[in-house]
Amino acid sequence: MNKGKKLYEGKAKIVYEGPEKGTAIQHFKDDATAFNNQKKSTVEGKGVLNNRISEHILNNLNQIGIKTHLIRRLNMREQLIYLVNIIPVEFIVRNIATGSLTKRLGIADGTVLSKPLIEYSYKNDELGDPLIAREHILEFKWVKNIKSLNFINDTCLRINDFMQGMFRGVGIKLVDFKLEFGITTIDGKEQIILADEISPDTCRLWDVVSEKKLDKDRFRKDLGNIIQAYQEVARRLGIIHEESNISTVKFGKPKAVNIKKK
Ligand code: 5GP
Repeated sequence: MNKGKKLYEGKAKIVYEGPEKGTAIQHFKDDATAFNNQKKSTVEGKGVLNNRISEHILNNLNQIGIKTHLIRRLNMREQLIYLVNIIPVEFIVRNIATGSLTKRLGIADGTVLSKPLIEYSYKNDELGDPLIAREHILEFKWVKNIKSLNFINDTCLRINDFMQGMFRGVGIKLVDFKLEFGITTIDGKEQIILADEISPDTCRLWDVVSEKKLDKDRFRKDLGNIIQAYQEVARRLGIIHEESNISTVKFGKPKAVNIKKK
């Protein structure tokens, strides 16, 4: 599929104009960054795995009625998506305290939260994605009204419920994750849909038994075996086969997905 002009290049992805108005092509790179770009590297094969893992999760979410930007995967590194205006807020859902939550508040690492906690960060690299309150989101109209913000919150919790079950079934604890949402017009109506990606780059995933980290913390904390951890997640989700490693990964044809606007 022919790509149009580059619309945006982020740390791990590039978005190009799509073949039709209102569509775009999302390309997954192998670049890894952490600590607001202070740590950078290339992890060979990461983009391919994230493309497949995110496709798998977003397709499943679509099936349970959560609208996402994914239309279909195109190839090893690219997806056809609906073009959205990204809401400049990162929605972070936490089930277990770790990462910035423990640093900020001195909560013991690994504390199981009594219910999922949603936090908000303003998406702004220059400011280091600062933590914000719901009031900031409404005051600065990053989300247009409280009804829309409540809708996003409810969607975050539904996604958490679904993903916790999905990962628990393959022996993985969903510790926390980051979601992004965008606004698009479907059938003449403005809608908020899930955008970006869900992958080991955007989630914390721990093995249920050993608590081994199977996510981007392996890069952030120099734990090594990054790609093996991502492959392990893909294998457990049944996306790649038991014996595959990244050089032999053979992905089937992308699943046909109805691209009729939802
Ligand atoms: P923390 O706030 O503890 O650093 O991150 C919480 C969760 O959100 C983690 O799963 C982390 O991967 C994800 N997250 C937060 N901000 C970002 C970001 O800017 N990029 C990515 N890839 N993930 C993020």
